[in-house]
Amino acid sequence: SCQALVLCPGTFPNGMMFVGDVSFEGGRFGEPSSKQLTASLKNIGHRMMRFKTGTCPRLDGRSINFEKMAMQKGDRKITPFSMRFKGKTPKQRPCYITYTNKKTEKIIVKNIKRSALFSGLITGTSVRYCPSIEDKYRKFPDKARHQVFLEPDGVNTNEYYPNGLSTSLPYEVQEEYLHSISGLENARILRPGYAIEHDVIDSRELKHSLESKKLAGLFIAGQIDGTTGYEEAAGGGLIAGVNAACFISDLPPLTLARSDAYIGVLIDDLVTKGTNEPYRMFTARAEYRLRLREGNTKIRLLPQARQYGLVDKSVIAQME
Ligand SMILES: Cc1cc2nc3c(=O)[nH]c(=O)nc-3n(C[C@H](O)[C@H](O)[C@H](O)COP(=O)(O)OP(=O)(O)OC[C@H]3O[C@@H](n4cnc5c(N)ncnc54)[C@H](O)[C@@H]3O)c2cc1C
Repeated sequence: SCQALVLCPGTFPNGMMFVGDVSFEGGRFGEPSSKQLTASLKNIGHRMMRFKTGTCPRLDGRSINFEKMAMQKGDRKITPFSMRFKGKTPKQRPCYITYTNKKTEKIIVKNIKRSALFSGLITGTSVRYCPSIEDKYRKFPDKARHQVFLEPDGVNTNEYYPNGLSTSLPYEVQEEYLHSISGLENARILRPGYAIEHDVIDSRELKHSLESKKLAGLFIAGQIDGTTGYEEAAGGGLIAGVNAACFISDLPPLTLARSDAYIGVLIDDLVTKGTNEPYRMFTARAEYRLRLREGNTKIRLLPQARQYGLVDKSVIAQME
């Protein structure tokens, strides 16, 4: 038992992964799924739905010919995420751009029915804004090529993330189409791309504080709320965490208005309208977006930060 609980199990609840016609249980590649959570949530009255997301294969940088690609350097002057950041930013590594071509298209179109997305294996609703490469060829047949953005997965790793090539095609098809792309002729797959289907709650059963309407003291955040994305998960997690602390301290919950912050828009959309597909936070969703600027964060959010003790007093004094 506990006084308050923040639940944020991501894609793990009843996670099922797909690589072509091979499917297996899992929350993330190499990690088991969470099988009891959905039953517990249903027991307290939450309605559950099924969403789907996916990722691209990971490649060994030592097998990529970067000379055939265009180098994309990072910003010369790095703007840190926090306006209070004073330290040194980490060393940067460049990204590279290449493109799919007619040969890639032929391989993918020929095998499209073998993708878990189109073979009928996946029934959950997909992320409209991060389509798989096979979905791009199906939805935009007139496009001669699609961009592939090769991103290093870290400063000290050979692993590369070929952004744009999310897929649930079989392993051998992934290998074949990768090798048709300029610079990736000899690319070695470290982990195949896959799709993952998982349970989510109906977010209309949450309050603006992200507390469950079904069980007092239970706060639910992240992908299980029907969102997808790092920022969406971090924003929801912040509110759920603050409010779990408020709950046990008998303080009123922290809620942000749509005109206060993008987090306010995200949560208001989720708890009032709900979502029937993985929700991404776009600037276009915010009717007050002219007001929601990085440069005026202090003015918009300092009162809440002060009231809830979210920032050090010394920092508040400095900001004031
Ligand atoms: C394959 C894939 C690719 C993605 N690519 C991108 C991307 O490029 N850009 C982007 O913005 N977003 C991406 N996303 C989305 C983003 O990663 C998620 O939306 C976000 O990480 C969700 O955060 P979370 O905290 O809800 O869950 P997670 O980050 O998944 O964390 C859930 C945690 O809960 C733990 N857990 C689960 N069940 C239990 C249990 N029963 N007991 C104890 N612990 C448990 C897990 O071990 C895990 O550590 C991707 C997601 C996936 C699945």
